[in-house]
Amino acid sequence: MSPRVLIVGAGPVGLAAAVSLRLQGVPVTVVDKAASPHTHPKAVVLWPRALEVFDGLGVADRLETEGHPLTGQHYHSNGTRVASLTFRRLRHTKYRYALAIPQHTTERVLRERLSALGGSIRTHTELTGLRQDADTVTTTLADLDTGTTREETYDWVIGADGVHSSVRSATGIGFEGHTYEQTFLLSDGPCDTGLATDSAHYFMTDTGVLVMVPLPDKQWRAFISAPREIPEGEALVDTVARVVSQRSPVPVRFLDGHAAGRFRIHRKAAERVWQGRVFLVGDAAHAHSPAGAQGINTGVEDATSLAWRLGGICRGSVPTADSERVFTQWSDERHQVVENVLRDTDLQTRLWGVRGFRRRLRDAALYGAERTGLLDRVVIPRQTQIVQRFSPGPGQGRPKAVGVLRSHARLPNVEIPTDASAGTRLHDFLSPTEPVAIEFDPAGTPGHHTKVRHAAAGGAGLDVVSLSGPALRSALGISRRVTCVVRPDGIVAELTPDTAGKGAGTT
Ligand SMILES: Cc1cc2nc3c(=O)[nH]c(=O)nc-3n(C[C@H](O)[C@H](O)[C@H](O)COP(=O)(O)OP(=O)(O)OC[C@H]3O[C@@H](n4cnc5c(N)ncnc54)[C@H](O)[C@@H]3O)c2cc1C
Repeated sequence: MSPRVLIVGAGPVGLAAAVSLRLQGVPVTVVDKAASPHTHPKAVVLWPRALEVFDGLGVADRLETEGHPLTGQHYHSNGTRVASLTFRRLRHTKYRYALAIPQHTTERVLRERLSALGGSIRTHTELTGLRQDADTVTTTLADLDTGTTREETYDWVIGADGVHSSVRSATGIGFEGHTYEQTFLLSDGPCDTGLATDSAHYFMTDTGVLVMVPLPDKQWRAFISAPREIPEGEALVDTVARVVSQRSPVPVRFLDGHAAGRFRIHRKAAERVWQGRVFLVGDAAHAHSPAGAQGINTGVEDATSLAWRLGGICRGSVPTADSERVFTQWSDERHQVVENVLRDTDLQTRLWGVRGFRRRLRDAALYGAERTGLLDRVVIPRQTQIVQRFSPGPGQGRPKAVGVLRSHARLPNVEIPTDASAGTRLHDFLSPTEPVAIEFDPAGTPGHHTKVRHAAAGGAGLDVVSLSGPALRSALGISRRVTCVVRPDGIVAELTPDTAGKGAGTT
C-alpha cells in the first residue's frame, strides 16, 4: 500500500503540495476546516519564481489568463518619484513580469488542477489533535458538519494550516518573533484613477504608506498603514478611500463594490519546519509583513520543494533510510530562505515609515540604487525570488560556478539556441519527480540534443540530456563541457566541469 499523506489546510500552499504530490502519482488526503472557499482580499502578487513553480504544476498558463501582468514598480516619497524598477530587465526566466491575481483565484485554479489529477478536499474537517511515533502519525479530525471526531493514521502530515497552525502547536513547535505595532488596512475594488495600470505604486508619506496595485478586471488593491485617528463610526472602506486620496498625488476615486479588511502583521518563524513525520509549510512556518509580497510566493516553494522529496520516499525511488538526510537538507534550505525573507520584509516595512533625515537618506539610497543599476542587479532578482542560492550542507562540497551555472543555486532558465524547436528553455528538460543530468558541450555539433537513460549503480537511473553547439558559449558563458545534475525544483545539485578542457573558470 502507498504511504498515506495528510495535508492539513487547502490554502494556496496546501493545494500546491497536493498538486505536486498528485503529479507524482502519490495519493493525498487534504482537509480544511472551512466549509467553502474564502473570497477575502489576501495576496495579490505572484513573482516570476512562483510562476515558474506553478508552470511545473501545470497551472501557470491558466493563471496568466486570469491575472494582470505588472512590468514594474514606482516609488514616491512625499509626492516625488524617487525610483522606478522594471521586471523587463530580468534575465534567464520566461517570466519577465509579476502577475497581479487575487489569492482566491489562484486557489480556485489550484483546486481545479487537483481535481483534474484525481484529488479532492474534505471540507469542514478540522485537525484538532496529533501525536506521532517512529512509524506513524495519529491525527484527530473533527467533522464540523456532524460534530463527530475520529482518529486517522497517516505516514506523513504536512501542516499548511496557516499562521495559527494547529499542526504546529500539536507538534509542540514554537513560533517565535513579534507582532508589529502598526495596523494596516486594505481595500480591493474598482477605482477611477489616472495611475498607470502596468505597475504597482508605492507612496511613502510622512503620515504613512499607500500601495496601489492594479488587478484584473479594472480593479485595484489599495493598501495603507492605518492613520493615527479614525473617526468613530467611519466605515472601513471610507477610511481607506479618504487616506488614499490624501497620500496619492494622482486622484483616486473609489467606485462601488469594494471589499475592505484590517490586519496586524508579524515577524515570526517556526523553530523547526520538520519534526519526525510532520512538516510545516507556508504561513504555518513563517509569518511576515506583506511588504515585498513574499508570503504566498515563499509558501508554494516550501511546499513544492518538500513534495518532490517526500514523493520520492513515498514512491520508493528514495530509500526510507535516506529520509533523515533528505529532510535535513530541505529544512536547512527553507531556514535560509525564511531568514532572508524575514530580514528583507522587515527592512522594507521599516523603510516605509522613516521620517526626517532618515527619510532623506532612504530616498537618496533608492535614487542612487536605480541610477547605479543596483535595483536591477540585486534588488529585483531577490524580490522576484529569481536568485536562489543555498549554502551547501555537510558533505555537499564547496559551491562551484561555471559561466552562469552555479551549484546549489537555481538553474538559469536560458533559451536553448541549439534546439530545433524555437522557444525551448532549460527548465523544459526538468522532471517533476527525479533529478536530471544535463551535459553542455559548446564544442559539439550544433543543434543536437538527445535524452537517454543511464542506469546509475544501484539506483533508479538518471535521465541525461545532452545539449551541444557553440551558441552555448554566449547563452551560458561556458567554453568547455559541463555537466549539471538538476533537482525537480530547478536547483543544481551538482556541477562538474570537464577538467580536461579550458576556458570558463570554476570558483
Ligand atoms: C491582507 C493580506 C495581503 C497579503 N498580500 C500578499 C501578497 O501580495 N503576496 C504574498 O505573497 N503574500 C501576501 N499575503 C500573505 C498570504 O496571503 C499568505 O502568505 C498565504 O495565504 C499563506 O498561504 P497558506 O496556504 O500557508 O495559509 P492560508 O492561506 O492561511 O491557508 C490555511 C488553510 O488552512 C485551513 N486551516 C487552518 N487550521 C486548520 C485546521 N486545524 N484543520 C484544517 N484546516 C485548517 C484554513 O481554513 C485555510 O484554508 C497577504 C496576506 C494578507 C492577510
